[in-house]
Amino acid sequence: MRLTSSLRFHRQNNKSFLRIFMLLVLSCIPGRTNLCSNHSDIRSSLDSLDLDGYITFDDVHNASKDFGNRYQLPPLAILHPRSVSDISTVIRHILHLGSTSNLTIAARGHGHSLQGQALAHQGVVINMESLPSHGIKIYKGTQPYVDVSGGELWINILRETLKHGLSPKSWTDYLHLTVGGTLTNAGISGQAFKNGPQINNVYQLDIVTGKGEVMTCSEKLNPELFNSVLGGLGQFGIITRAQISLGPAPHMVKWIRVLYSDFSRFSRDQEHLISKKKGFDYVEGFVAINRTDLLSNWRSSFSPNDSTKASQFKSDGKTLYCLEVVKYFNKEEANSMNQV
Ligand SMILES: Cc1cc2nc3c(=O)[nH]c(=O)nc-3n(C[C@H](O)[C@H](O)[C@H](O)COP(=O)(O)OP(=O)(O)OC[C@H]3O[C@@H](n4cnc5c(N)ncnc54)[C@H](O)[C@@H]3O)c2cc1C
Repeated sequence: MRLTSSLRFHRQNNKSFLRIFMLLVLSCIPGRTNLCSNHSDIRSSLDSLDLDGYITFDDVHNASKDFGNRYQLPPLAILHPRSVSDISTVIRHILHLGSTSNLTIAARGHGHSLQGQALAHQGVVINMESLPSHGIKIYKGTQPYVDVSGGELWINILRETLKHGLSPKSWTDYLHLTVGGTLTNAGISGQAFKNGPQINNVYQLDIVTGKGEVMTCSEKLNPELFNSVLGGLGQFGIITRAQISLGPAPHMVKWIRVLYSDFSRFSRDQEHLISKKKGFDYVEGFVAINRTDLLSNWRSSFSPNDSTKASQFKSDGKTLYCLEVVKYFNKEEANSMNQV
């Protein structure tokens, strides 16, 4: 008897649980339908925009991740702009949809961030490399500069400026990064101690603001916008064009790498080198774990005469510190190269 009554109790309990569960499911359905229709409304509203370029909704795999490969955050859509006005139109449209659309926007340069900075989960990614460059324009004179699209790769700028004996003054180590991508960070390399990071070497920018306005800015014109966008982590506007300061490109360089096993000596030497007025043109330091093949991989860093010396360098698997220094030379200075 007891068993039967306990069973009845359980059955009744189960029935009430099922009733509550069904109620919950049914109450969720209208919400889900709203969400879906919202989603498809947004999609079709984006699709109906009159653009020079186009928007894709399906092929979003590449824009879901970056170089770091730590996050998979698919966007709702990717804008492939063919004009600055495309970027402005989409931003204005998203602003018009209001905050309930929950759409975020991220510009994507070459996608070489490590922490998902160029991703917009269920938002709109703007593929800056689609923006036509209209050429890399070089202006010579007392203060030479190059005028480029925000989606241009630094490697292309170097190739073009070198044809005129010029080059940007400050670099990143790796050059397959976009102008917009590094100018929203800083752009740091071995010339930064002398010329500042890349963001210190910009004359003018064209920006599409968060309201979709297209604005030109510089130290003198809209300086607040200029100083916010440079190093602003992509949060203050989208860089569509930049004027970057140039200097004479060296004809030759002497490139030296020095290995240390003692951190204090390494950092003392590095500080000494960057404090010298007439020293090297490039100074960078990095840390390396000394795997057994480290020195043979670095054979190119040592002159053939130094290879015996280098092979004698033993650090027993310890952490190594490397100073990388470069001195620039003109053709006339070729004879003095080996005096460095
Ligand atoms: C192999 C490698 C080497 C590197 N070496 C260096 C180095 O030596 N020095 C250094 O400083 N950094 C270095 N970096 C870091 C690199 O500078 C940053 O990750 C940079 O942001 C990548 O540029 P990107 O074009 O791929 O930008 P993305 O990764 O596409 O975007 C980076 C950020 O910029 C924003 N953004 C992109 N384009 C625009 C635009 N036009 N307007 C506004 N915002 C925009 C994005 O929304 C995002 O927030 C290196 C990275 C890698 C992978």
